[in-house]
Amino acid sequence: MELTDFIDFSFIDLVDILLVALLLFYLYKLLKGTVAINIFIGIVIIYLIWRLTEILNMDVLSNLLGKFISVGFFALIVVFQQEIRKFLLLLGSTNLASRQNMVRYFRFLNKQQQVSYFNLDVLVDACEEMSKSKTGALIVIQRNTPLDFTFTNSNKTDIKLDPLVLQSLFFKNAPLHDGAVIIKENRIIAARVVLPLTEQSKLPARFGLRHRAGLGISEKTDALVLVVSEQTGKVAYIKDGNLDPIDSFVALKEQLKNDLSD
Ligand code: ATP
Ligand code: MG
Repeated sequence: MELTDFIDFSFIDLVDILLVALLLFYLYKLLKGTVAINIFIGIVIIYLIWRLTEILNMDVLSNLLGKFISVGFFALIVVFQQEIRKFLLLLGSTNLASRQNMVRYFRFLNKQQQVSYFNLDVLVDACEEMSKSKTGALIVIQRNTPLDFTFTNSNKTDIKLDPLVLQSLFFKNAPLHDGAVIIKENRIIAARVVLPLTEQSKLPARFGLRHRAGLGISEKTDALVLVVSEQTGKVAYIKDGNLDPIDSFVALKEQLKNDLSD
């Protein structure tokens, strides 16, 4: 290779490098904290051993590993089926999010903020009450990604958001108390929803299914989640696969206001 070949660095090369960096970033974001990261490391190790056996001319082993690597591409699709799905969903919903934001920017900027304001008082008050009475609750707030894929017709509701309604939905002996409630703007659009569980492997044991379901939906979509623990009465706020314990309901209101207006 000539030195000039190396210096000949075009704009397209820069774009190429940036795109690879972006791809690796998304891959890391998807795999972080899941069991898939261990599988990924396993594959990298096999690949490195294969290269090593080739360099050392270990014919039998390198042949064997070479065969394994050549079908590896299909194996990857099978093993990472979940992650590939998530990746495509992430790409699709990111686009949708920016488009919706543009529309919002040009039209009802103020109106949108007022709507979130109204939601907040009702939501936060209901959480405070349920926290005091140790009523277990799982509330999912839809943002840009539609959550229709999580429920069927039998879960559909159309109820105006109201603190008493929320409390009675989660009241222990109420017929609708199991599962999650989904909120879109000022309406409860679904109840008794079974959410996908998180794949995070290092969660503390005190987080049961309710918390795992809240984490799961926040990893797959941009939804915000509020969990009230039945065991401790503690409230948790979940966003992008991160769970924050809530100590102050005033702070929670501020946090929600921020996250709902961007
Ligand atoms: P808590 O602190 O309230 O006990 P937890 O995280 O320990 O919460 P569990 O005790 O396992 O969770 O809570 C069980 C409740 O969580 C169930 O009664 C059900 O309402 C809800 N739940 C369990 N799995 C799901 C799911 N996949 N989607 C939605 N809700 C679920
Ligand atoms: Mg529990």
